[in-house]
Amino acid sequence: MLILISLWMAVGTVLASSAPDLRLIETAPGVRSWMSEVQIEELSTRIHKEGRCGGFFDVTDHVDEPDLSELLGIGIPGPREIIAERPLTQANRLERVFPEISTQNLYSSIKTLSDFPDRYFKSSSGVASSNWISDQFTRFAHGRTDITVETYKHAFAQSSVIARIAGRGPNAAEHIILGGHADSTSNGVGAGRRAPGADDNASGIATLLETFRILSESGWQPDRTIDFIAYAAEEAGLRGSQDIAQDYKRRGVDVLAVIQFDMTAFMGKTPVMGLVSDNVNPGLNTFQKRLLDTYVKYSWREIRCGYGCSDHASWTRAGFASVFPFESLFEEYNPSIHSEADTIDKLNMAFGSHFVKLALAFAMELGTEP
Ligand SMILES: [Zn+2]
Repeated sequence: MLILISLWMAVGTVLASSAPDLRLIETAPGVRSWMSEVQIEELSTRIHKEGRCGGFFDVTDHVDEPDLSELLGIGIPGPREIIAERPLTQANRLERVFPEISTQNLYSSIKTLSDFPDRYFKSSSGVASSNWISDQFTRFAHGRTDITVETYKHAFAQSSVIARIAGRGPNAAEHIILGGHADSTSNGVGAGRRAPGADDNASGIATLLETFRILSESGWQPDRTIDFIAYAAEEAGLRGSQDIAQDYKRRGVDVLAVIQFDMTAFMGKTPVMGLVSDNVNPGLNTFQKRLLDTYVKYSWREIRCGYGCSDHASWTRAGFASVFPFESLFEEYNPSIHSEADTIDKLNMAFGSHFVKLALAFAMELGTEP
């Protein structure tokens, strides 16, 4: 099998060099094919119509990186056991910051982001919208010298944005990552069609911005380093998050835990959050359930979202512990995503504020060394 795959990949490499626009797409572990942009869009549409989201990695730029997701199944020492039963110590701080959550702020971030014609990873408004996100992080940093906001460049137009609150003390080299994707798509977006992406994923970016604003203004200084990341090009095959996760891995950055916010403001019929249980770290997922039960006090149920369904999968693939809390049961998610109809009027900011509570609890509990 391995020989067959490498032979096939060698053929693919030749193909790619003669047709540089082809991309290597992986739709299941080890199942890869070279596709044109049109074919990738067709694949994305087909997966979406089947009621699944994401569903593939564009591995063109990471062909030689080993897939470390299997570590999930063999029990990596460290994070999963330590984190699952980690004591919760931040109740007092969280009680103080929860009242700071503003549904008006969530609304205005989603409104601004969804007013861009699109946030496509190749378009000028894709670039401009990421710049806007970067400006918001900078504004909320209020000149704190322990906060940096960095633009992360890729091989395509749109950049990712990393806002970092530096840890201090002996655990400062350990990173906690809160992320969500900045880009949006819609069938035909490359041809000028609108892609407001209010729920998918202006909502997740609004969650990050509001969490960051509150932490920054609270004056809290974490023991671990907290990275807020707005990833470019998720819809194109998790390209931004793969670049970043592989880069962290190559540089030996010690990432303790990753949480992904992708679609956080549409309420399904059943009033529960969906907790993705496949391609995530089981121990970190148990820890997340304790945060929900203890602090957020909102019901949850486990769901499955399939292969490569959002940026958390890039971290799992790079061997790091990740989780993905989602807006609803999988069969009840916002039916308007990936179309011109993914607009703000269908969203519920009070519901969305539960994800800000979860993000605050995740950052403060894991960012503090008790
Ligand atoms: Zn999304």
